[in-house]
Amino acid sequence: MAGEPQADCLFCKIVSGDVPATIVRETETTVAFRDINPQAPCHVLVIPRAHYPDGAALATAAPEVAADVLREAGEVAAQEKVDGHGYRVVFNTGAGAGQTVFHAHAHLLAGRGLTWPPG
Ligand code: 5GP
Ligand code: ZN
Repeated sequence: MAGEPQADCLFCKIVSGDVPATIVRETETTVAFRDINPQAPCHVLVIPRAHYPDGAALATAAPEVAADVLREAGEVAAQEKVDGHGYRVVFNTGAGAGQTVFHAHAHLLAGRGLTWPPG
């Protein structure tokens, strides 16, 4: 069922605590943790606790939780003190765009110059 934990999903295992992660913030609906392979000095992933394959599926099925994820990206940016300079929030969607984990997640990237357009 949509939103239910998936046995083979890495991020569901981080939500359940079966896979460890460096968690920076948690809410009732979201978890934010440091990316294991950071692409910027600040690189945090914000995920819904519930499993949806990507950001659009999340926003379709649970728009209030999609809003929680976006708001949390801002809260983490403030906590990490990168909100003043600016930060980027990215949802890679589909393998061709670099998505490797098919549990919706927002990348929060900051702490270095971020060129536009991204690669
Ligand atoms: P995607 O490529 O799907 O947009 O992003 C997945 C992200 O998850 C990648 O940036 C990758 O470094 C990160 N990642 C993959 N495995 C782990 C893990 O076990 N722990 C953490 N903290 N991050 C992971
Ligand atoms: Zn999942």
